[in-house]
Amino acid sequence: MKILLANPRGFCAGVNMAIQTVEEALKIVGTPLYVYHEIVHNRHVVDQFVKEGVVFVDGIEDVPANSTVIFSAHGVSPAVRNAAKKRGCTMIDATCPLVTKVHMEAIRYARQGYNILLIGHAGHDEVEGTVGEAPNAITIVESPQDVENLPFTTEDKIAYITQTTLSRDDAERIIGAIKKKYPNAKIPPSEDICYATTNRQDAIRSGASDADMVLVVGSKNSSNSVRLMEIAHLDGTPAKLIDDKSELEHDWFHADQTVVITAGASAPEHLVQEIVSELLDQYGGNVEEFYFVEEDMHFNLPVTLRVLRGDQTVGA
Ligand code: SF4
Repeated sequence: MKILLANPRGFCAGVNMAIQTVEEALKIVGTPLYVYHEIVHNRHVVDQFVKEGVVFVDGIEDVPANSTVIFSAHGVSPAVRNAAKKRGCTMIDATCPLVTKVHMEAIRYARQGYNILLIGHAGHDEVEGTVGEAPNAITIVESPQDVENLPFTTEDKIAYITQTTLSRDDAERIIGAIKKKYPNAKIPPSEDICYATTNRQDAIRSGASDADMVLVVGSKNSSNSVRLMEIAHLDGTPAKLIDDKSELEHDWFHADQTVVITAGASAPEHLVQEIVSELLDQYGGNVEEFYFVEEDMHFNLPVTLRVLRGDQTVGA
């Protein structure tokens, strides 16, 4: 078997920052430590933190008054922040700065009187957080058909923003429908789909055509992982999204195949390596890395955490 490992794959700067935030908070604050929503959408990451005493909650009412709560990488709405404040909680905000950027755009457009079309998946944690910044101004659109059904006229002020982890192709189709129906729609100053999503999608797009099979390592609720699988499928290559090696099904493989492996932005690298070892044990063969682009993005830990840690440079 020939195994081709896509680069970049796995953890992005936002996920690294969010995971390190929980690790550091465990050291400083101890347990129980509360995290609002899954810190990142990966079952292994979440299960490991649960073992270490982290309590994940889906409602601030489940966080005891005056305790410490971390907000996940996907961001939260002002209503959640206010509820935590009212309970006297210490808030550590591990929202990815690239999600915060989209929140800021929503706030700015709402202040300027725009009807904001948020291209994204209803119910996703990130989308719920962004909608919460301007609930009366934002309409979620998930498809070109949704755009067709919008009640706004060409006289209305329209702006659009996007979830950070969409498929660029899907987003382009919806943006095309928006521009057709609302030619004066305000275009975001810069791309909202983040660098990590884009790079992982481009890498798998470039490698999938060489593959008999694509494996995407990631959880089913990880938006960017699901998009990677869909992209691999586009040119007819069989693709599977798996959390870990226990989900490998041996009737998917044979020894003469080329298998391309990538990982969503929240999937730990050790899971990839375990899958590679399992396939080599079963089928023999060799492993090569292929590179689409190198990444060197880094995000600082949240200020509140650095203050709790006693960092001298905070605010300097
Ligand atoms: S996938 Fe993109 S938006 Fe999400 S945490 Fe990573 S860098 Fe941030």
